[in-house]
Amino acid sequence: MPALTYRSRPRNWPRLVRSSWRSSLQFRTVTVSVALSGLAILIVGVYMSVSIGNDLFQSRLSQVLLESDRATSAAQSLFDSSDATDRVQVQNLLSSARTSISATSSSRLVAVLRVPGQDPSTVAPLDSSTFGASSGVIGSDLRAEVQANNGDQFWQSVTLFGDDATTVPGIVVGSQITVPVAGRYELYIAYSLQDAEATLLFVQQTLGVAGLALVLLIAAVSWIVVRFVVTPLRVAAETSQKLASGDLAVRIPEKGEDVIATLARSFNGMADSLQSQIRELADLSEVQQRFVSDVSHELRTPLTTIRLAGDVLYDQRANFPPATGRTAELLHTQVERFELLLSDLLEISRYDAGSVELESEPTNLVYLAEDAIDSLRSLAETKGSDLRLVAPGGYLNADVDPRRIRRVLHNLIGNAIEHGEGKPVVVSVDSDANAVAISVRDYGLGMSQAEVAHVFDRFWRADPSRQRTIGGTGLGLAIAREDASVHKGWLQVWSSPGQGSCFRLTLPVTARVQLESSPLPLPPDDATAALGEAGHVPGQGGGPHD
Ligand code: ADP
Repeated sequence: MPALTYRSRPRNWPRLVRSSWRSSLQFRTVTVSVALSGLAILIVGVYMSVSIGNDLFQSRLSQVLLESDRATSAAQSLFDSSDATDRVQVQNLLSSARTSISATSSSRLVAVLRVPGQDPSTVAPLDSSTFGASSGVIGSDLRAEVQANNGDQFWQSVTLFGDDATTVPGIVVGSQITVPVAGRYELYIAYSLQDAEATLLFVQQTLGVAGLALVLLIAAVSWIVVRFVVTPLRVAAETSQKLASGDLAVRIPEKGEDVIATLARSFNGMADSLQSQIRELADLSEVQQRFVSDVSHELRTPLTTIRLAGDVLYDQRANFPPATGRTAELLHTQVERFELLLSDLLEISRYDAGSVELESEPTNLVYLAEDAIDSLRSLAETKGSDLRLVAPGGYLNADVDPRRIRRVLHNLIGNAIEHGEGKPVVVSVDSDANAVAISVRDYGLGMSQAEVAHVFDRFWRADPSRQRTIGGTGLGLAIAREDASVHKGWLQVWSSPGQGSCFRLTLPVTARVQLESSPLPLPPDDATAALGEAGHVPGQGGGPHD
């Protein structure tokens, strides 16, 4: 037997119906139309079936009453014109009356019962009945009425039993006849309603088939009609999805003059203006980027000259009067800052232009962290900070660009020392099968949530007047974040005022790996407990980048 597919497994059907109901406008519309029209057709069908059934019964009843009346009168006139006097003659008379009743009333079921309570008569024939299996259907109520009212007709609906134990609906009609010499007799004639029932069944079947066909027709028609509307809507939805995902050239085909065509035209108009505005913005930003890059380039040569001249002056400062000497020193540090800013600007404009190429090589991040720590040790000593490295893992070689990662670490550790208020700075390195993470934790000033939200913005500083020892262009973390994302890694931050900060860099071991988690915790383990007391939610500025 072939394996059942997901759709053909019956236990999956309710789920499929539910998901189709949620996701398909067409399915919903067709289901609602079919349900409502099916209900309407059912109500009309039941009403028609009941009223046709009633009508059939009533007409058969009047026919039956007429026939029975005619048969009874014929029998009575037979008795009236007879001069029978002994039992055999009366018996014969009764038999021929029964035959004539059967002949005139199209019924084989005739019962003649002597009305009880009369004087016993020797000539009175015994009760006779051809009801057979149905003899019990003559109810006592009917009998009582017939016995009490001479000359009237009474009827009752019954179930007749056939010879082969089948049952058919029927009507029993009763009345009194007077047999000469023998006295009063009850006459019962039973009529079958089998024909009427067969007609009703046929009508019901026809109604059922017609109703079903109508429901199918309604389903097909509503499916086709909804398709007319849904197809262009689906195209519009797909097109807007593509537009939203950046494919600005997509348009909806415009056909006809109807409301759908109007929708398509206005959508396309909107897409046109969106595309032209985005193009304008892109052009503008390209011009700006090129301007920044060109200016930075152009400034390099004169700056080198200024720097050389400044160096000469700086070297000679001891020979200058004190005020001039201080100016030479100032010039020296500001030129250094200027150079730093220029190189950062050039770097970020390279990222903006998308012209950054990774020079990845297998790199041990623990050694890289050690290098960065060593290069900043003297700064840490001047600030009184103790630089520590904790590396339970991370000794495996990750495919990264060492120059960029060294720059990120230099920036993070430099910031931690700058803002660490002389407290220890802990650099942790750990790894798992997919990722290597480095976190830089300080216990300094920390930042508020509002500050954390801006920490990766260009030229943003929490407090521009804060005393700076190294560089400090305000571009360091912006470049670090670009460096992380170009590696498909994350640079995230947790910080809390008074508790310090923790920056965590997570990098995939190879470019093929998609990051899902980091080997190091953020917020750091030693922050969570303090957090509970402070009731402060950690900021996650910079979030995961892909
Ligand atoms: P820069 O350090 O050159 O000013 P960054 O982009 O490296 O630029 O940092 C931007 C700002 O983020 C800093 O000026 C500082 O206010 C804040 N900052 C960065 N690291 C820390 C930290 N470890 N603790 C407190 N504030 C920090």
